[in-house]
Amino acid sequence: MNVPLHNNIMIDTYMTPFDHPEFAGHEQVVLITDEASGLKAIIAVHNTNRGPGLGGCRMWNYASANDALTDVLRLSKGMTYKNALADLALGGGKSVIIANPRTDKTPELLRAFGKHINRLAGTYITAEDVGISSDDMEIIGSETKYALGTDATGFGDPSPYTALGTYVGIKAAANHKFGSYDLSGLTVSLKGLGHVGYEVARQLHEAGARLIVSDIYEPAVKRAIEELGATSVSPDEAHLVEADIFAPCALGGGLNPDTIPQLKAAVVAGAANNQLETPEDGEALMKRGILYAPDYAINAGGVISVALGEPGASDTIVRRKTLAISDTLTQIFERAEAENRPTNIIADEVAEERFRRHDTPA
Ligand code: NAD
Repeated sequence: MNVPLHNNIMIDTYMTPFDHPEFAGHEQVVLITDEASGLKAIIAVHNTNRGPGLGGCRMWNYASANDALTDVLRLSKGMTYKNALADLALGGGKSVIIANPRTDKTPELLRAFGKHINRLAGTYITAEDVGISSDDMEIIGSETKYALGTDATGFGDPSPYTALGTYVGIKAAANHKFGSYDLSGLTVSLKGLGHVGYEVARQLHEAGARLIVSDIYEPAVKRAIEELGATSVSPDEAHLVEADIFAPCALGGGLNPDTIPQLKAAVVAGAANNQLETPEDGEALMKRGILYAPDYAINAGGVISVALGEPGASDTIVRRKTLAISDTLTQIFERAEAENRPTNIIADEVAEERFRRHDTPA
């Protein structure tokens, strides 16, 4: 609600984070400022029943502190679900630094942020997200041991594991829908040939799938045509083409009431975050008979590698856990089918069962 101040200026009535519509039972929300470096940040820890809240730090020029709060609360809750579904001994948390990553980032600001993470004594563990690079994470990590995803703390770039998990997730979806893990002869429309998407495309090509690719970055498309024998369409057409599987691997998946009725594929399975515009879109996919692999289940390979990758160690554990995404998805698909309910809702329920089970922190 807005109330008028003098000169007809409207201001928000005072609202505490407890009243925020996205508060969702967060255990801890910390507002941070550091005058010397200009740091302004929020750390949100949603749930630590399974372990410390792990989730990236996003640096973004938010229009308001309220926008930043909304984002961090949503993202942090999402990490509880993602980490629980990936069966990691971790809870969910996230942080946002309210500043322009291109112009406001300084080593002093990042170090001040690291010192504040330290004050939470391990309740929150940070990693990279939008606006924060691995070099930035090294600086944050110089002040706190609760910073993962750097070369010093783990395997570095998580995208190869995200791609591996997405690839085995696509195979699990194909098996559920078409009765075989064999992808040869199937057509996949893959949108977004970045760090994750290109690697998924390469593995699909090796498995004998026919690829129709799209990306706004032309050189990536050219490379896929030359190296993987792909054909291409414009990104706007990716969901419209005749294909067995649609794999959204770009930014923002765009499954909504406009695009869902136009889909030709019988399976949607890809790495992009936030593919459904609203949870109701999962039901719309189900009603059309389209099998949807919930995004945070299929793209968990990255967080698995960040959480479990030890510097210099073999990647056996990380690979095993990433390959298990196939089993998790199969369980979700089977339960959704048995109960005639959308896969995204089932994924949420499985995650909730896992993190609520540990109701009494040790
Ligand atoms: P990236 O930036 O390397 O690649 C994104 C690609 O998508 C780029 O090639 C870009 O040109 C393309 N793109 C952007 N907008 C597009 C559009 N409208 N149409 C077609 N192509 C478009 O990112 P990434 O690391 O490969 O991540 C891809 C997706 O996977 C993102 O949604 C990300 O949030 C999600 N994800 C990534 C990881 C990871 O480990 N990198 C982990 C979990 C989820």
